[in-house]
Amino acid sequence: MQSNENLYVVLASGFPEDRGAVALQTPERGYSWDDIDRGSARIANVLRMLACPGARVAVQVHKSPEALMLYLAALRAGLVYLPLNTAYHESEVAYFLGDAEPAVVVCDSGNLEWVERVARQAGTAHVLTLDADAGGTLMAAAAGQGDAFVAVARQAGDLAAILYTSGTTGRSKGAMLTHGNLASNALTLKEYWGWRPDDVLLHMLPIFHIHGLFVATHGALLSGARMVWLPGLNIDQALRYLPECTLMMGVPTYYVRLLGDARFTRELCAGVRLFVSGSAPLLEDTFREFEARIGPRILERYGMSEAGMITSNPCDPALGERIAGTVGPALPGIAVRVVDDADRSVAAGVTGHVQVRGPNVFAGYWRMPEKTQQEFTGDGWFRTGDLGTLGGAGIPDHYLSIVGRSKDLIISGGYNVYPKEIEIILDDMSGVQESAVIGVPHKDFGEAVVAVVVPRQGASIDVPAMLAGLKAELANFKVPKQIHVVDSLPRNTMGKVQKNVLRQRYG
Ligand code: AMP
Repeated sequence: MQSNENLYVVLASGFPEDRGAVALQTPERGYSWDDIDRGSARIANVLRMLACPGARVAVQVHKSPEALMLYLAALRAGLVYLPLNTAYHESEVAYFLGDAEPAVVVCDSGNLEWVERVARQAGTAHVLTLDADAGGTLMAAAAGQGDAFVAVARQAGDLAAILYTSGTTGRSKGAMLTHGNLASNALTLKEYWGWRPDDVLLHMLPIFHIHGLFVATHGALLSGARMVWLPGLNIDQALRYLPECTLMMGVPTYYVRLLGDARFTRELCAGVRLFVSGSAPLLEDTFREFEARIGPRILERYGMSEAGMITSNPCDPALGERIAGTVGPALPGIAVRVVDDADRSVAAGVTGHVQVRGPNVFAGYWRMPEKTQQEFTGDGWFRTGDLGTLGGAGIPDHYLSIVGRSKDLIISGGYNVYPKEIEIILDDMSGVQESAVIGVPHKDFGEAVVAVVVPRQGASIDVPAMLAGLKAELANFKVPKQIHVVDSLPRNTMGKVQKNVLRQRYG
């Protein structure tokens, strides 16, 4: 008989023997491992009556312990979990439901009216509600159910989740992730980041995205480690709980915000063994300021919906240093290469397209076979759409640095301009907090380089002096035609700078 490769079975193999111990701590109460196991079993019993294995469950709810149980219940019932950003509006949700045709939709009671409308259009038979305080029809239905559930048999290649990419251009695509993809990535990270049962994770990330739902949650569950479960980034609460935590995961903005608070000190973080950053580039300034003030270096890693975690700076110093501006080597069992337009590997230090191969790489885009085929090479490498460099000045050849998304590459007068090259120079200039460089349509050059700069608090920017500084360091075609000074850059919930918004604004 084949073993059950259901991801829930893999995760539950790490639950501690003491099922009465606290697994999730919210500011209000603790949830034991038993609570998680039984709670998700009750919900799985509800889902089983509504949908068959392989059917999709679309979920747009606020973060809560019950929302995590719902995710685990979907895995147990063999359903395909489809988390949706809570910021999505009716027309966006209508697209996802129409595309994924879920059998069940779970939403916040406050959105029920329009969710029911779009679910009906998508042919979804069941709409349930789950509120941040555990109210709603889902938990009411679960209350009457048994608290045991044998996980439905799944093989490694069976789908566990569909994550829709944020899709700033064109249609958003559903990345199909299998039980095997997620389990292999979780097991690799457990080992590489040295997860232990006595770890305590500060979990402030949203759970509609790989970072909070998979990377953070799977690591803790698989290790039997406790999570401090906060609804989102809240500096006061983070400062309150950090002294009892050993691990924190965040997007770069979290670290910037924490460093902006005088109460965030070395003493407060004395027990934290690992700070992880990802989902967007961590500024070298933040990395250095953090090290100087708090002590350890932030561990930056790189990944994406389609492939989970791909590279990570080392956790164990015996494996190498954590280097600012890099995302580290490929994780064990995963291969990364940087290639030219003809898929040939480029030399160390040369920028090219980042490609990845390994058990973490997704099964393709939902109902988009052609798109899927385009994004893989003949020999099975996935084209990440990111530009990067392996090695380079003073950096070991197996360390990757991300230069940006290939669609953000600017082609001005026929020349390639990598925004990151200009952003690094701008960020180093006095008075600059951060910057974003974009290409906007230009009648002579095709695209013109435009810089958007955020000054440090209290600093003022001398644009002509800045331009003179850039001209001294860069070829003329890379020097921005315009520099805009703004208070802040537009970012999405995962801390990514929305360059599409900037292109629209300054185009
Ligand atoms: P998502 O699928 O929403 O997780 O977005 C994945 C994309 O985020 C990647 O393709 C990268 O462009 C970007 N990304 C993730 N981690 C990093 C990082 N550490 N540094 C730079 N970009 C990152």
